[in-house]
Amino acid sequence: MEKTIDKIVSLAKRRGFIYPGSEIYGGLANTWDYGPYGSQLKKNITDFWWKTFVQNRDDIIGLDSSILLNPKVWEASGHIGSFSDPLIDCKNCKERIRGDKLIEEHLGVEAAVGKSLEEVGQIIKENKLKCPKCGKTDFTEARSFNLMFKTHQGVVEETASSVYLRPETAQGIFINFKNVTQSTRTKIPFGIGQIGKSFRNEITPGNFIFRTREFEQMEIEYFVAPEPQEQIEEIFENWKKDALSWYKAIGLNEDNMRFRDHDKDELSHYSSMTTDIEYKFPFGWGELMGIAYRGCYDLTQHQTFSGEKMEYIDPQTNERYIPHVIEPSFGLNRALLTVLLDAYDEDEVNGETRVVMRFKPVVAPVKAAIFPLIKKPELTELALKIKQTLQNNFAIEYDEAGAIGKRYRRQDEIGTPFCITVDFDGLEDQTVTLRHRDSTKQERVKIEELESILFREINGI
Ligand code: ATP
Repeated sequence: MEKTIDKIVSLAKRRGFIYPGSEIYGGLANTWDYGPYGSQLKKNITDFWWKTFVQNRDDIIGLDSSILLNPKVWEASGHIGSFSDPLIDCKNCKERIRGDKLIEEHLGVEAAVGKSLEEVGQIIKENKLKCPKCGKTDFTEARSFNLMFKTHQGVVEETASSVYLRPETAQGIFINFKNVTQSTRTKIPFGIGQIGKSFRNEITPGNFIFRTREFEQMEIEYFVAPEPQEQIEEIFENWKKDALSWYKAIGLNEDNMRFRDHDKDELSHYSSMTTDIEYKFPFGWGELMGIAYRGCYDLTQHQTFSGEKMEYIDPQTNERYIPHVIEPSFGLNRALLTVLLDAYDEDEVNGETRVVMRFKPVVAPVKAAIFPLIKKPELTELALKIKQTLQNNFAIEYDEAGAIGKRYRRQDEIGTPFCITVDFDGLEDQTVTLRHRDSTKQERVKIEELESILFREINGI
């Protein structure tokens, strides 16, 4: 079975996961709205991320900072000066292209990274790279295009001050470093995690929700002592393992993932170690997340620009230092896209092809569906009663319409792991049929056991 982005896009729309944005007005390019199941799936992924990295760990705490920050933040972080991509225009069809991505597609990542604007122009010319839209090879010079969205804060545009929509959530963490250390009992090593929207005026968004201008990130800044180096390397390695296990726990197939260490040319000037986790998308390997060791660059910059001390005082030795930081940066929308891709399956049930989303119960938008076998008052009454008892703790659907096989098929397509059918025997002995999505096997279980079965399956116990 071939998995294509088109299959996922069409299922996503048909079944209420993801709709094209502003559709009734003819759309707005590369914007997407998350429907009833998509928004629940997204929430389940963020909840599980928060649970794994914040709630279940004693060394990480949470934060929720603003999207609009003082513009000085972006001067300090370097985003105003250098958060840009090399833009080229096709002289023939006027298509706007990201020069480095064009090189990457044809000559590989190594040829594209860390190149100056002139080099990008030269490589494209020398290799006679073609415009992906019209096939011609005549481009403008490469120019630097800043990716930050600028807007105005205040009522009158002319007098209002410029502000930016944040291009990453990370800086909101750094600027609260002092607040967090002063208001909590954190001790190094410790991390601060946050989830939220980020905005980048991407030159070439696309591939469904892989690259959009508005997206969500789940980021951690993990603060460590400046030495010993071996300890920093060990913590870095542990982050690689923890991140990979998290992706596996939300249902990603290990064979579709790989680590890619950045080599020297590609590393930012302040980073000595960066690794991406990449995923084998139908359009090729693409970045799922990055893990970067950023030294003390960010806190030092904010100390310089704000005039506030960003030091940490070791409670045992009284030593003062600016902590170093390791940054695991997860993209929520890319995680969701890969969950959809790895869950998508087609098999044969009773001689018919079925589409089934094999979501892990922890991320499945609906955990169980409850059906009365037929629409008879005694059965619907008991089915609704069961729904009510489960609904407070689990996302449950109730469906009494149509043949039972059709109802199963609908739940298979939205990836509901369990269907519970109430029949006449159940009225006598308080049992129901529990049908498992993946195997389609059915078993008889007591109504009173349903809650603990669902709890066990969702929590993987
Ligand atoms: P890319 O090379 O794909 O542009 P990046 O290296 O600029 O990504 P980072 O700045 O490291 O990305 O951001 C961390 C994560 O945020 C990425 O791994 C990705 O999951 C997510 N992300 C970044 N830009 C976008 C975007 N435009 N749309 C969706 N997700 C994004």
